[in-house]
Amino acid sequence: MNPEKLLNELNEVQRQAVVHTEGPLMIIAGAGSGKTRVLTYRIAWLMLHNIDPFNILALTFTNKAAREMKERIAQVVGASEAKNLWMGTFHSIFARLLRVDGHLLGYPSNFTIYDTDDSEKLIAQIVKERNLDKDIYKPKKILNRISNLKNNLIIPQYYDRFPELFEYDEAAKIPEFKNVYSAYVERCFKAGAMDFDDILLKTNELLGTFPEILAKYQDRFRYILVDEYQDTNHSQYIIVKALANKFENICVVGDDAQSIYAFRGANIRNILSFQKDYPDCKIFKLEQNYRSTQNIVKAANSLIAKNRDQLKKEVWTANEPGEKITIYKALDEAEEAQYIAERIMEWHLSRQMDFSNFAILYRTNAQSRALEEVLRRKNIPYRIFGGTSFYQRKEVKDMLAYLRLAVNPNDEEALRRVINYPARGIGQTTLDKLTILADRYNTTLWSICENALLYSRDLGSAIAQKVSDFATMIKGFGVMAKKESAWDVAEHIFKTSGLLRALKEDSTEEGISRLGNVQELLNSIKAFNDKQLELEADNDISLDYFLQEIALLTSADQDDKTDPNRVSLMTLHLAKGLEFPVVFIPGMEEELFPSAMMMNSRADLEEERRLFYVGITRAKKKLYLTFTHMRTRYGRTADCEPSRFLEEIDDEYTELIVPGIRTTGPTFLGGVPNLDGLGISRPYKSNFISSKQTLPPNFPPGIRPLQPSETPAQKLNSPSEPPPQGEFTTDAHPGDRVYHQKFGYGKVLSVEGTGVNKKASVAFDQVGEKKLLLQYAKLIKV
Ligand code: ATP
Ligand code: MG
Repeated sequence: MNPEKLLNELNEVQRQAVVHTEGPLMIIAGAGSGKTRVLTYRIAWLMLHNIDPFNILALTFTNKAAREMKERIAQVVGASEAKNLWMGTFHSIFARLLRVDGHLLGYPSNFTIYDTDDSEKLIAQIVKERNLDKDIYKPKKILNRISNLKNNLIIPQYYDRFPELFEYDEAAKIPEFKNVYSAYVERCFKAGAMDFDDILLKTNELLGTFPEILAKYQDRFRYILVDEYQDTNHSQYIIVKALANKFENICVVGDDAQSIYAFRGANIRNILSFQKDYPDCKIFKLEQNYRSTQNIVKAANSLIAKNRDQLKKEVWTANEPGEKITIYKALDEAEEAQYIAERIMEWHLSRQMDFSNFAILYRTNAQSRALEEVLRRKNIPYRIFGGTSFYQRKEVKDMLAYLRLAVNPNDEEALRRVINYPARGIGQTTLDKLTILADRYNTTLWSICENALLYSRDLGSAIAQKVSDFATMIKGFGVMAKKESAWDVAEHIFKTSGLLRALKEDSTEEGISRLGNVQELLNSIKAFNDKQLELEADNDISLDYFLQEIALLTSADQDDKTDPNRVSLMTLHLAKGLEFPVVFIPGMEEELFPSAMMMNSRADLEEERRLFYVGITRAKKKLYLTFTHMRTRYGRTADCEPSRFLEEIDDEYTELIVPGIRTTGPTFLGGVPNLDGLGISRPYKSNFISSKQTLPPNFPPGIRPLQPSETPAQKLNSPSEPPPQGEFTTDAHPGDRVYHQKFGYGKVLSVEGTGVNKKASVAFDQVGEKKLLLQYAKLIKV
């Protein structure tokens, strides 16, 4: 395609953002304004201008989003070129990088990635070994805290430097936390395993410790693009900053109004930091929404205006006014589901819309049950994203554990899982003995298994023989995994490990379905082989790579290929970035949405409101919001109050339907007396204590982010260079000696432009020549 044609599919500001390829750039803009489109076209534009795809790195929120962007780019530049792009989530990209260079940190190149379940099991094991109270040291809670610390780059060695952390441990009655954290880190390392957060943490460690590795990737990734920037956490922020430090060709796009992952450590301040880090960054605002009708856009605007913390922007659309948003009051969740299913059928039949046009977005996974029941009854095909993933099912995890052991036998969690499944006479007592031996000789469980015959005295010779046989089998798988494709190895393992036989023996309906699931897993390995050959340049079809891929699938990526013509069901969190012609948001009730856990502080409530904003803005043509009179939750039926968010949408854009009554506009608030609180505005509760806080509220005070060239250790040891005293100047002259907060000392070479556009070229002693806008550069004359 020629470049001009590409630009014709963009509006003026989008075009400017696409062609402004050099230097830092940020787009903070409302939902549906084409941020992702700009990112996609920018990559195509770069490639059409002979930038090697090898030099481009694009970071997306899901792997699916990356795949879709890649497919679009392939249409423009050709599939073979697009293959060489590095696009994906932070986790999948940096796991790839760690496969290459992680050995410098002592990891095997085929390290295992522990999922949440593996991590929690390991923590439970550590808690047990240390005789701690498992009701206080709950694996989920402990892991959550570890995750928060890792995402803020606080490893166990630095823990002592933050006394507040110990205070928190005392307050939460987990005084042994630090030791559990250390043990967890050590055990993961010994097992050759990383958890999700390690992927970012270890990337930071790698880039911070080895300047030559940092330089290698800085040179490689000359153009860096980040979608959904508002939801990056500190660890991700530092990685991006380090990589972009040399060329500064970094483009981030996001929407502060859609920041919905603060609870997982996402830091909206990264948007503000961007402007500080790149004082001469270019900022584009996109204000035209191309996705939704006027009613939907205006309703979303009226809602988000209730948030105090936000960057001002006007979002408008030239699309048709469209239908009003329907608010429906149902009797209970069954009737709500019934209503939704009927509307879907109505649209489907009257407008020939296939089922992929509809999405049902809910606050909690538990809400899907009532919906599924009705959809099934009415024969409406659907698919659920998230929830219990296919890869979490027991039989699938068992099979995966064998595959993981083939690649990395030190993987302790996998080993524990299948050492005696199918049963081979290695019971819990033996496993405990093996664990004690591993501890005694300070080695891994695997190494004990491998040398089991040496420990015949401890284990008993018959058992030692069984353990040894098991190890021999695993080693055999390992040899094969090095040479053959993922598919061949998996099939072989399935047949010879005893798993196939064990599953076949169970002829109950459940057993048959379990066998079907493992076969489905094998199919997905086959599909992976095919996809690798089609989409990726390196043609890597090893088992190792397959395992990495599936370990890093996000919940939104679970997407089986069969029949796309289905209604999508997912949580609001997963719907970020997506769009559907018709959207339903059920459960618009107090304590469900906003969630009871998010009502205690303004910050939490604003996050819930942003989540609702994300939900509304997924709809292109029509939005339905439903709430119930009563609902059964946790086994109890209770009366419900309509969500405060319903009142916050300007009623010009909504119509209320209560069975038997249909009202629109103003009557909605004042005119219908029996609506259980709808229309009664409720003051916010002004209690600022968040119930879900896992770190101390003032955590950790005064921390400054890592500088890209520093290791964490350096950061904490060396106070930053004291800046000279003096006022910031906007009036520099060639020859002046100046100081810049980030770049240090330098000499002004030349000055050009006037007023706010006045720029100075400065030769900095440390980092070379930089062009800075004097207005923002905060230079001090020395
Ligand atoms: P979100 O904030 O939800 O992630 P976004 O800002 O990334 O949204 P996109 O998904 O890129 O927005 O675009 C929204 C829709 O508008 C898409 O269907 C896209 O194809 C379409 N669109 C964007 N820009 C244009 C344009 N200039 N002309 C026509 N359609 C456009
Ligand atoms: Mg987007």
